[in-house]
Amino acid sequence: MPEIVNIKEQIRTLIQLQEFDAEIFALTRKKEQLPIEIMNLEKAFEDKKATLQSLEEKAKTLALKRKEKEMDLASKEENIKKLTTQLATLKTNKEYQVMLAQIAGLRTDNSVLEEEILKVMEEQDARKEEITKEKARLAEEEKMFQEEKKKVEAKIKEIEFSIHDLTAKRGHLLGGVEKRILLIYERILKAREGLALVRVKDFSCQGCHMSVTPQVVNEIKMQEKLIVCESCARILYLEEDM
Ligand SMILES: [Zn+2]
Repeated sequence: MPEIVNIKEQIRTLIQLQEFDAEIFALTRKKEQLPIEIMNLEKAFEDKKATLQSLEEKAKTLALKRKEKEMDLASKEENIKKLTTQLATLKTNKEYQVMLAQIAGLRTDNSVLEEEILKVMEEQDARKEEITKEKARLAEEEKMFQEEKKKVEAKIKEIEFSIHDLTAKRGHLLGGVEKRILLIYERILKAREGLALVRVKDFSCQGCHMSVTPQVVNEIKMQEKLIVCESCARILYLEEDM
């Protein structure tokens, strides 16, 4: 003999169950979104490092430029020394004059180089100052990012706790639902975004807002079996019958 199921009682329990499940579904959604929020915060913070990176690149280029000029200067100094010692060995005045001019030319080059090196050094100082400021700004940004991240992580924990709590509460209702009905309900719940049981209001399904025929409404009123929406397949009930 098949078990006689009181559909009205079943629906009443399902209404309570659906309240918990809707909440669990919404919280689960939210919880899934939060790690993305953390990733976005992290990305925004990483992007803020670009200015520092470009300043550091510039500083590196300047250091190279300075080194090149310093090497050039040193080699020219060396040359001047060498030529100066050679001066004494020259035989003719003309050779002497040519070498003097050569030395003078090198000296002019070097004074230009020295000025250029000074300019590079000034630029290096300016960059260094900018880098220090930028690092301080980034440290501040990182602090803010870490704080935001902590807040989001705390939110995740909070949601996990709520889901756990709601799941326990829904668990207490399960004993009151017939196994076959529970299976149907849970299958629809999974397939239909956490909403398996909906009201019919003014001949309209409150799940998909498609119309429900008077014949279907009559079937619901009979409360003999579960009636589902022809459009969205959710279980239907009438509030006035509950
Ligand atoms: Zn529907």
